[in-house]
Amino acid sequence: MYTVTNPATGERIEEIGNATDEEVRAAIERVHRGYGSWRLRPVTERAAIVARAAELFAERSDELAEIMTLEMGKRINEGRGEVGIVVDIFRYYAEHGPELVADEPLVLRNGAAVIRKEPIGALLGVMPWNFPCYQVARFVAPNLVLGNTILLKHASICPRSAAAIERILHDAGVPEDAYVNVFASSRQVPWMLEDPRIQGVSLTGSEQAGISVAAEAGRNLKRCVLELGGSDPLIVLDTEDLETTVNTVATARMRNCGQSCNAPKRMIVLSELYDEFVDRLAKRVADFYQPGDPADPATKLPPLASVAAADEVAAQIETAIRQGATLRAGGHRVDGPGAYLEATVLTDVTPEMNAYREEIFGPVVLVFRATTEEEAIAIANDSPFGLGASVFGTDPARLRRVADRIEAGMVYFNKSGGSEADLPFGGIKRSGMGRELGALGIEEFMNKKSIRL
Ligand code: NAP
Repeated sequence: MYTVTNPATGERIEEIGNATDEEVRAAIERVHRGYGSWRLRPVTERAAIVARAAELFAERSDELAEIMTLEMGKRINEGRGEVGIVVDIFRYYAEHGPELVADEPLVLRNGAAVIRKEPIGALLGVMPWNFPCYQVARFVAPNLVLGNTILLKHASICPRSAAAIERILHDAGVPEDAYVNVFASSRQVPWMLEDPRIQGVSLTGSEQAGISVAAEAGRNLKRCVLELGGSDPLIVLDTEDLETTVNTVATARMRNCGQSCNAPKRMIVLSELYDEFVDRLAKRVADFYQPGDPADPATKLPPLASVAAADEVAAQIETAIRQGATLRAGGHRVDGPGAYLEATVLTDVTPEMNAYREEIFGPVVLVFRATTEEEAIAIANDSPFGLGASVFGTDPARLRRVADRIEAGMVYFNKSGGSEADLPFGGIKRSGMGRELGALGIEEFMNKKSIRL
């Protein structure tokens, strides 16, 4: 069942039944048939349609932001910001896509060849609720320019975002059979992957969903991109301005109410700064105690995406405290029907505790003390995840030295997370495989065909 429930009030607004197996099969047939003609359109035509989609996303930014606020509690201004990135991604691939898929000449020892960059067919996208528009854009914009077609199964709590995105793409000129939204259930995904008309799958979501989709993709020899969870470290080596560093860290962790895969979740601070850092951070996050309506731009603490999500994070905090962690700020579910949880700071988390290894997908900061740079790196790498990481410090050579030792798909200096259309995004270890965005993102579902001349 797809449902729209306002997480700020708990009010259930709409229910949409799952697609039947027959409807899902019909949707697969549409994107399979659509591929036959979409791939034959000149790339410049496909890019022009993607450019038009960028303009429509920009025009409908308020509508999309309002939907996200209603469906998953995103603060309205953050919703507009998310659509801004979507516009940028569509524009990037509209502008650069044709050169990224252009033939690559090869000089051989005994002659010449060319690498022709072709699409592979109809793809399945399985997407999460935390950035309902951005996650779809990362997958869809490059693949449409390349000539693949898309069947999209969105998260079951954001059907209106899913429908609005489909409307925009069709209004922009993407043929109805080149992009199809389907309200499939996650139980239907395995047999969708068995279908020979589907050539690959991209999933953004939890580790558990990733395991299931990767197993099914493997069994059926389908290409697979997995963008999964993270517990990104943020190392503070030194700073000339601790207040600014603390503000940057708090703002980054609280973005999207803590529900970002690549938010800094584990702060690792060298001993000299540790006590003052924790004191200031604990004071700073008190700004995020007062629950508010996410539709009000003045709100600092919006709800989490659902009551179930808020309860789960509250339970993780409780377990951490029971296992010996120290609560330095927040920690409480806010009374009432909404999915609110105070911003929280925990210290003294040790490897024996669940919180040390789990992803905490909410407004919770863990702070670790490291006595040396070496120890900071060891703590950063002592995680099953390897999505992103940040290093804060004043010495560029030291930043690079630490970055080289970090086990992650992405490292940022003196900034945390974020996403740019031309910067490849993705992780290692249990954070997934493959890359989205930039020049690498368009290659995941590409047939690099060698043509010997
Ligand atoms: P989720 O529960 O895994 O759901 C993601 C999508 O997968 C939804 O469409 C869901 O459908 C579907 N799904 C769930 N279980 C499945 C299964 N066994 N087989 C096939 N499909 C399945 O994740 P979420 O709670 O929406 O998102 C939060 C997670 O995503 C966090 O771990 C976060 O770190 C991660 N994430 C990663 C990135 C990245 O780029 N690395 C970006 C954003 C989020 P239903 O809604 O119908 O269950």
